[in-house]
Amino acid sequence: MRSSKIVRALPAAVTAVLALTAGQAVAAPASAAPAERTAAARVVTYDAGGAAEFKDAVAKGAAIWNESVVNVKLQPAASGQRANVRIIADNGWPRTLSTGLGSGTIYFGRQAVDEGHNTVRISSHELGHILGLPDRKPGPCSSLMSGASAGTSCTNPYPNAAEKAEAEGSFGLVGATAAPRTYQD
Ligand SMILES: [Zn+2]
Repeated sequence: MRSSKIVRALPAAVTAVLALTAGQAVAAPASAAPAERTAAARVVTYDAGGAAEFKDAVAKGAAIWNESVVNVKLQPAASGQRANVRIIADNGWPRTLSTGLGSGTIYFGRQAVDEGHNTVRISSHELGHILGLPDRKPGPCSSLMSGASAGTSCTNPYPNAAEKAEAEGSFGLVGATAAPRTYQD
């Protein structure tokens, strides 16, 4: 008698699990089951050794992300350590070649700086791509990922609430990845 009760109870248990899974799929990543969430911030290391005159802007952009999100932390790579992200100054337009979530190369293009775009906003924006955020153009100055479309008068280097939530969601889950992608600006 006891065993048949257990057998009858199983479908109900399976249904409950499926319902929970379905709920999670619809809800924000932050509501995922505790077991699937990261226990600590994922560290993404960067090497600004090739960033020339933009090293300070890179540090400021990293600091802005670090104060904006908790699930990922941008840190300078220790000497001799292979960095997840390299930042290289060049004469082109700023762009990011992402090799996955939290890794890739940022080209800190002088062309945009010469045209009057804010260096810290450029830094935060390109780091945003490294953190998995796409361009949102055209867009307002309040959006970091609206990038250059907000004009040279826009100096806002901070991600808005949605952009913060997007990065938190990406890095909040264990083993989260992203396909390699090139962002042309
Ligand atoms: Zn961009």
